[in-house]
Amino acid sequence: HAKKSGRNTFRSYRKGMDELIEKRRALEADIERGLERGEFELYLQPRVSALDALIVGYEALVRWKHPERGMVQPGDFIPVAEVSGKIIELGEWVQIEACRLATGFPEHLHISVNVSPVQFRHPQFLERIEAILDASEVSPHQLELEITESVLIDDDQRARLILGHLKTLGLRIALDDFGTGYSSLSYLSRYPFDVIKIDRSFVSALGTEETADAIVRTIIDLGSGLGMRVVAEGVETLDQARYLSVAGCDELQGYLLGRPQPVDSIASEVSAEIVSELTNVARLQARR
Ligand code: C2E
Ligand code: MG
Ligand code: MG
Ligand code: MG
Repeated sequence: HAKKSGRNTFRSYRKGMDELIEKRRALEADIERGLERGEFELYLQPRVSALDALIVGYEALVRWKHPERGMVQPGDFIPVAEVSGKIIELGEWVQIEACRLATGFPEHLHISVNVSPVQFRHPQFLERIEAILDASEVSPHQLELEITESVLIDDDQRARLILGHLKTLGLRIALDDFGTGYSSLSYLSRYPFDVIKIDRSFVSALGTEETADAIVRTIIDLGSGLGMRVVAEGVETLDQARYLSVAGCDELQGYLLGRPQPVDSIASEVSAEIVSELTNVARLQARR
């Protein structure tokens, strides 16, 4: 009896695996089709100076306008695109599209794009970016690449060479989701980051978990001390914005300042209420 049920369990396990693999294959093919048919779109979310609430740039966040599934969020297709290698094609499309958008921007605004570790590891990563920049009118300093700590762990030597080369091309480099990976203080000093982005999980815990306050302050002091701009992700409340500004955070990003929006509906400034709040905080700070 036990033997029989064991076999059944195995069979249903195999069936589950087969279904999973089948689903993944279908999604891969679907991504390919989506790229051919122009179903992907970049949404832009503003990044705002903490001192005066002026918009300094936008992060490009990919969306998939699927003909049957509706709007699909990156969490539902980026992981599969990474496993299948489709992220190379998709990532290139994102970079080309971001360059095209940035070309129409005033000089002082940048666009940042997320780079998957799979893209970063690709042997032709640098060549492809160079080719995209060459084919575009964009000023390289208007393009920022966001990478995560995982690419630094893989191959320290190569990562350093590549980041150094990207810098000589004039691009800006941001370390995304800081504090969630195998964060090491030495990473920050060994690599030429222009920007570090404090992960949303610390920002949302501000004021509720004592440790979050300490961690956020420490990241801000560390980044500032190393000459980097420190950006807070996932800022949703005025209290968080005030706290971050007083603590010396340079830039804010989050629903409070603006949600990711299609390009034709992005705002060029944040609401007057937030501008006056942030400038007030900065004025009070300056007086102390
Ligand atoms: P990320 O790079 O850390 O991007 C920030 C994510 O937080 C975005 O989610 C954004 O919509 C969301 N967010 C921004 N402000 C707030 C807030 O105040 N509250 C909350 N709860 N969330 C906020 P999204 O667009 O779903 O993207 C998720 C992740 O998918 C990104 O995390 C990034 O890792 C990845 N991703 C997005 N676009 C691309 C892309 O073009 N290429 C690659 N390789 N990855 C991408
Ligand atoms: Mg990002
Ligand atoms: Mg992030
Ligand atoms: Mg990320």
